[in-house]
Amino acid sequence: MVKYIFVTGGVLSSVGKGILTSSIGKMLQTRGLKVTAIKIDPYVNVDAGTMNPYMHGEVYVTDDGGETDLDLGWYERFLDLNLRKENNITTGLVYKAVIEKERRGDFLGRCVQIVPHVTNEIKNRIRAVAKASNVDAVLTEVGGTVGDIEGLPFLEAIRQMRLEEGFENTLYVHVALVPVLDVTKELKTKPLQHSVNELRRIGIQPDIIVARSPKMIDAEALRKIALFGTIPENAVFCSYNVESIYQVPLILDEQGMGEFICKRLGFSERKQDFREWKKFVDAVLNPEYEVKIALVGKYAGLADSYVSMNEALRHGGAACKTKINITYIEAEEFEKDPKKTEALKDFDGIFIPYGFGPRGTEGKMMAIRFARENNIPFLGICYGFQLAVIEFARNVCGLKEANSTEIEPNTPNPVIDLMPEQRGVEYKGATMRLGAHKILVEPNTIAYALYKSSEIYERHRHRFEVNLDYLKTLKEHGLVFSGKSTDGRRMEILELPDHYFFFASQFHGEFKSRPGRPDPEYYGFVKACLDRKLGKPKPEF
Ligand code: GLN
Repeated sequence: MVKYIFVTGGVLSSVGKGILTSSIGKMLQTRGLKVTAIKIDPYVNVDAGTMNPYMHGEVYVTDDGGETDLDLGWYERFLDLNLRKENNITTGLVYKAVIEKERRGDFLGRCVQIVPHVTNEIKNRIRAVAKASNVDAVLTEVGGTVGDIEGLPFLEAIRQMRLEEGFENTLYVHVALVPVLDVTKELKTKPLQHSVNELRRIGIQPDIIVARSPKMIDAEALRKIALFGTIPENAVFCSYNVESIYQVPLILDEQGMGEFICKRLGFSERKQDFREWKKFVDAVLNPEYEVKIALVGKYAGLADSYVSMNEALRHGGAACKTKINITYIEAEEFEKDPKKTEALKDFDGIFIPYGFGPRGTEGKMMAIRFARENNIPFLGICYGFQLAVIEFARNVCGLKEANSTEIEPNTPNPVIDLMPEQRGVEYKGATMRLGAHKILVEPNTIAYALYKSSEIYERHRHRFEVNLDYLKTLKEHGLVFSGKSTDGRRMEILELPDHYFFFASQFHGEFKSRPGRPDPEYYGFVKACLDRKLGKPKPEF
């Protein structure tokens, strides 16, 4: 019988529900149990694909081309899973399905209501994931904060699931902020108590409460949380601030949370093995070296916009015993004052992330040029790849007005152009080239040395690509396309053989990067940054 674990949050959003959900999964996994995780997003968008990363954080892309919430990235990284679109449920998706059924006549003669039609749809979707993934436990994180209007149908659905699945097969975990007051340095549990009350008003009594606080809660706070939450003291845990997010499962497990959950859900006594995870965490916490990386982007003000890239760099760092120090630079700063690019020489590497639209592209290209001309390690991802092609066309091939038609529709030299199948596409939702596609890697290239395979599968999210009309010119001037789509018509990887490390990909390696198993392009970049800093010759992988 599959077990359902539900995670809700209180007081305010961003209390780390995603990390907590991933950590619970990890505690079960390290005891030999199979798990999967679902993220519920109560917004009305059908998926995260049409949202601005600056407001919502990055859009995480799954193998099957889902444009999902970034928490799926945490689940995949912590639990080493490859999830599917179905693991992200939104209000938009649920209502769309219910309305389609109504139009089809599935509910003929009846009045379609939130309870039972919408709640049934939600429960069916959670159960369908459980069935398809064949696991011991399904973790479901409800986004937002308890009490939000949008979240109510979802909370009602998970409330009903206890009745239908049974007490021993369901577990409610509630996490809420316990702040420390500046003035008195006191832990304040009152907001948490209110959020538990709010949850109970909806009909859900939590089984476990996690206090999210800057420091470990004291006995007094624990007692209060247990008393007012109506749970035993050994069901209260604390997720306090740690140096690395990857420590969270360890600190919660030390408090007995893994054992508590297993007992409560009737999983038999199990030996737990955190060795692999601890090895990775140790590497993160005890680096021998440090590299400074300039991330030149357009959403640089919100670190969540680049969370998977950040983590992939850190995975690469852990593999090289290197601390990654990232400085976020707004690309437009370089456009306003070109002299500012000089500051880039103080960095060990220059990284250009994904992006959309014209804003900041000239500044990004200034940074790419600086990396190319000063032999500074460079990694470009997606837009970073396309802009590297434009910069090369302009400054090496002499096509001064080269551009992408995304930036300048009337450019005389559209070296980057809309993919043919994108012409005529009207709907913006879920219509990019998405998800994992096969790529053929050329032998005797940096790409081959890094991937050690002539066939790889990487995740994509783009509408534009290298225009084949310019291939000859680009190649003649020394740009090597070392990875291509299976039909050879889509350029996927570029490199400059004479440069210390100049590498970019049309795909997003960060989505497949895992703790202890860094993605090759990120690993290669970090290693190059470190080697160059240590004065070593050009890296061989
Ligand atoms: N804007 C570019 C495109 O649509 C790049 C997308 C990206 O960086 N993910 O092709």
